[in-house]
Amino acid sequence: MRRPLVAGNWKMNGSIASVDSLLSGLSQLKMAKTVDLAVCPSFVFLQQATAALTGSGIKVGAQDCSPVSDGAYTGDISASMLVDQGCALVLIGHSERREYHQEGDALLAEKLATVVTLGLAPVLCVGETREQREAGDAEQVVGEQLRGALMNQSSLEGLVIAYEPVWAIGTGLTATPEQAQAMHAYIRNELASIEGVSANETRLLYGGSVKAANAVELFAQPDIDGALVGGAALDAVEFGKIIDAAA
Ligand code: PEP
Repeated sequence: MRRPLVAGNWKMNGSIASVDSLLSGLSQLKMAKTVDLAVCPSFVFLQQATAALTGSGIKVGAQDCSPVSDGAYTGDISASMLVDQGCALVLIGHSERREYHQEGDALLAEKLATVVTLGLAPVLCVGETREQREAGDAEQVVGEQLRGALMNQSSLEGLVIAYEPVWAIGTGLTATPEQAQAMHAYIRNELASIEGVSANETRLLYGGSVKAANAVELFAQPDIDGALVGGAALDAVEFGKIIDAAA
């Protein structure tokens, strides 16, 4: 039985004051005991978030990290720094990193290996663009992203996959529950052929304009084990309703 996970990706949003008020809204939520929860603020708010959420049942994660342990890499943040800040997970290969920072599978594989070695749970994000879906290439693209990051890893402890069709991120267009389920089933099947992955135990999150209004139907699908939530995670009440839908 896979425990659902609902994770919020706050992206590059917030100020000390607005993060304070979001954190206080989150700490007032009635936490569903059957759901794992996490939020991924910007690096500069990690300490604020871990301080506020310690003991709340909501884990804190980061949105990215360097593949390298330390050294002369100006502007980068290492995975061990994230551990030091109290992070439990980290997003790897979000489509915005792939698109705006040209992050490819080889780099993501390196990041994944680094993260796992330090005991952080990697949330590997995969997903096709609208053009790729319309060309009938969605499965091929997602399959390549999975194999590119996951093959030949010595450990994949704690691995979570987030299927986030690029055309659904921040657009208000959600994949239908049937479209999402079909891709999740494909992903689970692909995972079964990758050494070191327990396909049936790996949580597969859906991401892409998830909100309270569509969460129930998405979470009812057999291979959808929760969500990676962007915009709606910036509103504690809405995020709370999504959590309720997963409970
Ligand atoms: C995301 O960025 O991970 C995401 C799913 O965003 P949104 O929910 O806003 O589409």
